[in-house]
Amino acid sequence: MLRKSLIVSLAIGAIILNSSYSIVSAADLPEVKILATGGTIAGSAPSNTQMTGYKAGALGVETLINAVPELKNIAVVSGEQISNIGSQDMTDDVWLKLAKRCNELLSDPDVKGIVITHGTDTLEETAYFLNLTVKSDKPVVLVGAMRPATAISADGPVNLLNAVKLAASPKAVGKGVLVALNDEINGARDVTKTNTSNVSTFKSPELGFLGYITDGEPYFYRETTRKHTKESEFDVDNLAKLPRVDIIYTHENDDRVLIDASVNAGAKGIIYAGSGMGSIHKDAEPGLVDAQKKGVVVVRSSRVGNGMVVANSEQYTKEHFLNGDTLNPQKARILLQLALTKTNDLNEIQRMFDEY
Ligand code: GLU
Repeated sequence: MLRKSLIVSLAIGAIILNSSYSIVSAADLPEVKILATGGTIAGSAPSNTQMTGYKAGALGVETLINAVPELKNIAVVSGEQISNIGSQDMTDDVWLKLAKRCNELLSDPDVKGIVITHGTDTLEETAYFLNLTVKSDKPVVLVGAMRPATAISADGPVNLLNAVKLAASPKAVGKGVLVALNDEINGARDVTKTNTSNVSTFKSPELGFLGYITDGEPYFYRETTRKHTKESEFDVDNLAKLPRVDIIYTHENDDRVLIDASVNAGAKGIIYAGSGMGSIHKDAEPGLVDAQKKGVVVVRSSRVGNGMVVANSEQYTKEHFLNGDTLNPQKARILLQLALTKTNDLNEIQRMFDEY
């Protein structure tokens, strides 16, 4: 009798242990690729209390992976070094390499998702570029850190763990390129860096973040209504270059000098980060009119940080300036670069700004 109840309780114990700790073999785990580009998450400082003035992009992808052995419990991970730079130095070349590599990897049925480690300075730009150029609905998750890997309370390891969990999750399929830091999930289109040093820097102001990652589990509450990834018409797989698009940021006493310089440098498009709802200084406006007449596509955006830029002025419409909707100037620049790889037709380009 005693022996029988011992066997029963051992069996129950084994079931409980198995369900709560689910001992899975590597063969059952999803495959997630980690593409490393540099940034603070791979940053190294001389002391563990130094949070600024460190070297970004100092550690290789294997070091990042080895620092989080727990990754092995959630996915079969392997890394590739795409670049190792501070993301303030990001280039079109790295972007094209990343987009092409993502498309190659995601066409492999075994690969379930991709995590990209990145500096936080331009992370939102790379995320939006990939949101428009990756041809798959499998998860692509960008992750970074605000404290270098050597710092006390470094945020990189937990961010990486969460990002891999998100990239391996069926819940993240079809959501577009995602940004995961500080236990929050943001969408590539609307997210922006809002604080120079705080770990809670990534926000999607007013439009809102998509969800949380709690105890490693992603929870989604909303998703974007704008086109992305599989539905995107942009294809960079056969491109070696992107057209030049410059951003001109308005201010008191603005004039046309930088606009003319941009046209002379060969810009095919200009994003005018206007005041308010894309307002243009009267002394800069003739420069934009002349640029437009030379075939440079002019899109009005805003330096405000929130809200739409729409066709609010007959004069601007007559001058053939387009409207950047809610995209911030750095995101509007990316959409215009990609639009110009397809067309110079102003109606078509405006349609793209209305859809993406
Ligand atoms: N400026 C560096 C970069 O963007 C460090 C910023 C960061 O990763 O937080 O790569």
